[in-house]
Amino acid sequence: MRKHEGIVRYASLITIGITSGLFITLPFMSLPFSSCTKTSHIESHALHQNIEEVCHTGAKENKWQYIVIHHSATEKGSATAFDNYHRNKRGWENGLAYHFVIGNGTYSRDGEIEPSDRWERQIHGAHAGNMEYNRVSIGICLVGDFENDGAPTQHQFESTAKLVQYLSRKYSIPMSKIIMHKQVARKCTACPGKNFPFEELKTRLLQVASKKDKHTREL
Ligand SMILES: [Zn+2]
Repeated sequence: MRKHEGIVRYASLITIGITSGLFITLPFMSLPFSSCTKTSHIESHALHQNIEEVCHTGAKENKWQYIVIHHSATEKGSATAFDNYHRNKRGWENGLAYHFVIGNGTYSRDGEIEPSDRWERQIHGAHAGNMEYNRVSIGICLVGDFENDGAPTQHQFESTAKLVQYLSRKYSIPMSKIIMHKQVARKCTACPGKNFPFEELKTRLLQVASKKDKHTREL
């Protein structure tokens, strides 16, 4: 028993040593955004984000009419990384152009939904390419380049469906106003890329909606 306790204590000391060592080392390990080459992907444990909590805002809600889907056209990213770019490189005082960013496991977790400061404040985005849309559309950006480099991950797809479904119900946005960036009038762009599974997304939304209706009828 004594010997066992001794081993446990010894093991705890090692754990504390390793953990504190990590905390001391970590700040020095972070590299500037541009100098990151191949980073290892952030572990994607089962992501159980509560969508109501993610979308909660203390501000007076805007009258959202559209949902516009984007890709970042970059291999890596996160809300923080894009906010930094939009704020410091583009000089946009409101920072991150979108209302939500959905990670691909590079700088945020795979499928992680990150709301932006614009969402928190319920102010216009800077993503659609024209102010008419920016004022009334919720901008959602998936990290990745779906024109030249693959498609969204399964986690990203699931999170996108969950987020779009929640927002469209909450703000009564019809299916016809859930669009890809390239569908915005007068906007010449490939965003969110030819590999973005838009039809699959719409099919999923319709399935979820019909399941909900059926459930409601049965109650
Ligand atoms: Zn776009």
